[in-house]
Amino acid sequence: MDRWIEETFHPHWRVRLEASRVLHEVKTDHQHLIIFENPTWGTVLMLDGVCQLTTSDEFIYHEMMAHVPLMALARPKRVLIIGGGDGGVLREVLKHASVVRATLCEIDRTVIETARQHYPSIPGAAFEDPRTEIVIADGRNYVANTDERFDAIIVDSSEPIGPSAVLHTHDFFQDCRRALKRGGVLVTQNGLPFLFPDHLRGTTAAFASLFKRVAPYMCTQPCYFGGPFALNLATDDKHVLKVDTKQLGKRRKKRGVGALKYWTPEVHVGAFALPAYAQEVVDAAIAAARAKPGRAAADIASMPEPVAPRTEPEV
Ligand code: SAM
Repeated sequence: MDRWIEETFHPHWRVRLEASRVLHEVKTDHQHLIIFENPTWGTVLMLDGVCQLTTSDEFIYHEMMAHVPLMALARPKRVLIIGGGDGGVLREVLKHASVVRATLCEIDRTVIETARQHYPSIPGAAFEDPRTEIVIADGRNYVANTDERFDAIIVDSSEPIGPSAVLHTHDFFQDCRRALKRGGVLVTQNGLPFLFPDHLRGTTAAFASLFKRVAPYMCTQPCYFGGPFALNLATDDKHVLKVDTKQLGKRRKKRGVGALKYWTPEVHVGAFALPAYAQEVVDAAIAAARAKPGRAAADIASMPEPVAPRTEPEV
């Protein structure tokens, strides 16, 4: 009898996924981790009751997290990924021949080990690439203490709950800014604006209080149930947001970034055109942060507490 595994993230509605086979389930030092097979989504990773990725649609999120910031930069060489223990963002980052070193700072070693074991197609050879450095640490502490400077910092965290909550705060973003090279780019996942506008509002306000340019963008991630998914980008370099489709196409070719399944120069440029309800949240957050310079509250109020996924036998 198959298990049905329930995502417990949304307070007033639930999604249940059939687990035709549970490959791994453990309470790690940091979170509840379960990996299972589903006939529709393929192999699924859930952390603390929240769907993180599926092998069927992971390419969307990973391509938009990696290629939007890196293609927007003229010569990205040094990249830091915070979180991302599944290896998907790292895989995409290493497709850029200009990248000489990519550091992955992941808090939970179990995520990396189980990625290698249960969905090796996602990291591919990225963990073994000579340009890769893996650091097992809390990303919050890593950026607070590093002397290194990065062209791009990509925060591939889980939702602002559990171990990941610290990665959605003003202080963390401030330390990321310190660890960026001049004109560098910071990108973070920013949740589901239709359901959690506070997440987008909080991060945008913090970015606006720290950087000259703030530009959220969106993609449609089928396994993040609840509408279009937001990512947020911050930089002091105005050129980063002025790269046109022709130049993006040239950069992709020059860096030998092969065939992609979601990112194109047109999708890149179009992703920054937000629907009106999201643009309204962004404009208000930037105006509020710029009206009252200083520490803007990035802390996100209305996030549900992490709950391990419930399993229901088929009735
Ligand atoms: N795409 C997913 C999403 O948007 O929900 C995120 C995927 S990735 C698996 C998230 C990773 O962040 C997990 O491996 C988790 O262990 C890691 N993580 C959570 N908190 C962290 C922290 N404070 N420092 C470093 N990594 C952290």
